[in-house]
Amino acid sequence: MTRLARVSVDPAALRANLARIRALAPRARVLAVVKANAYGHGAVSVARALEAAEGFGVANVAEAVQLREAGLAQPILVLGGFRSDEELGVLSRLELWTVVHQLWQVERLTACALPAPVGVWLKIDTGMHRLGLDAGEFREAWSRLGASPNCRWPPVLMTHLACADDPHRNAFTEAQLRRFEALSRDLGAQTSIANSAALLAHPRTRSGWVRPGLLLYGAWPLADAAPQGQAAWRPAMRFAAPIVAVRRLHAGDSIGYGATWTCPTDMDVAVVAAGYADGYPRHAPSGSPVLIGGHRARLVGRVSMDMLSVDLRGVPHPRVGDEAVLWGQDPRVEEVAARAGTIPYELLCHAGRCLG
Ligand SMILES: *Cc1c(COP(=O)(O)O)cnc(C)c1O
Repeated sequence: MTRLARVSVDPAALRANLARIRALAPRARVLAVVKANAYGHGAVSVARALEAAEGFGVANVAEAVQLREAGLAQPILVLGGFRSDEELGVLSRLELWTVVHQLWQVERLTACALPAPVGVWLKIDTGMHRLGLDAGEFREAWSRLGASPNCRWPPVLMTHLACADDPHRNAFTEAQLRRFEALSRDLGAQTSIANSAALLAHPRTRSGWVRPGLLLYGAWPLADAAPQGQAAWRPAMRFAAPIVAVRRLHAGDSIGYGATWTCPTDMDVAVVAAGYADGYPRHAPSGSPVLIGGHRARLVGRVSMDMLSVDLRGVPHPRVGDEAVLWGQDPRVEEVAARAGTIPYELLCHAGRCLG
């Protein structure tokens, strides 16, 4: 690891968040979503911490192989599906599950000679218009897979919601749920709808398999911030970096590229060894929170590639080598994301490069 900024992950927080999800959806099975290196938290170690989950969700076959080869024996579902006969062979050999979202995949799955049948989740497009089968394609896939020894029967039926995080779009979500229920009713298959936002905001989705990602990592997925509800979820990631300089600057001195922030008085400023190359968002504006020695301080000036500056007024006895917390328990990643005009998902994924 060549970076001074450090990401650490608390496995107890991951487990506590899983327990909260179970309390929310006591009848559901949990597919813990660990794609994108577990949102930057480290896929293998997160999956080990969450071994009580009934399964894991990853983006692609390579991510699934990584978990299997690390010794994880649970079901692992490839959310993006397979792309070739070779990948299909890997799925079958390693007992990996796959999403099927296009009819050509049904064709390959039914035509291939496989060592063992593959677990399939049929993905229905109910309005997201990203991956998924439309109603006609779904009926065709259902009947063709039913006649094939290569598909474990019955498949799980899944869909993905586009606006579950936004209460102003509840009508859109309702329409998606109605389309899904109309197609899946009476087929005797397990179902899967909920991501983190749906789990919290749409109790109807708390059945079958739930597919939380962000909530497991302790970040709040809904558009409306809910500070009280939020506090109960434990952030698993702590992103911190050392102070490499403490400067005494004078009233009128400006800081950093573009000279966008000017000291209103004589004051101490810390230079912290984290920047956008480490995954700290370049668009975080002056005023974004940073914690030093347990005291809240504020980012000042533009974020550089591997440095950022912090206003030390209100921080007693700051020293070179002290640690600045960029996000974790306080400040929370949601707060930094909101300041930077992005979402916690993006910040967590990017900071993962400092996992160490
Ligand atoms: C990423 C993903 C999830 C998890 O989403 P969160 O918002 O992190 O809970 C669930 N389902 C699918 C299909 C996904 O791609």
